Amino acid sequence: LTALHRFAVQRWTPRDVQLALDEVLRARRWSVPDRVEQPAAYLAALLRDVDPNDRPGALEEAMVEAERERREWLWRRDVAGSAPECEHGQPAGDQPHPQTGVRACPLCRTERKAEQ
Ligand SMILES: [Zn+2]
Repeated sequence: LTALHRFAVQRWTPRDVQLALDEVLRARRWSVPDRVEQPAAYLAALLRDVDPNDRPGALEEAMVEAERERREWLWRRDVAGSAPECEHGQPAGDQPHPQTGVRACPLCRTERKAEQ
């Protein structure tokens, strides 16, 4: 679809296009017609004023990434930094990471695997 080419170039996902369309329809107080005679032309008309550099999913992804970094930081501060050392001397070495479940200490990791 040529109407989508300039967005594809900026690595838009189908979800980005959907978000942009939702925004356009909301702003113009349009509703989607029951029957679209020329879907490609209709889509092109809706996307005409949308800037391909303004990818809607970018903010969402940035927020998810920021939240991930925040949790990582909290994990380091509250658990890894203050927790008692494992038997191999690594702070919180035997504590599984809350998201990945991976233990910080490689020796603890190996022992845990051997147990299973
Ligand atoms: Zn250990």
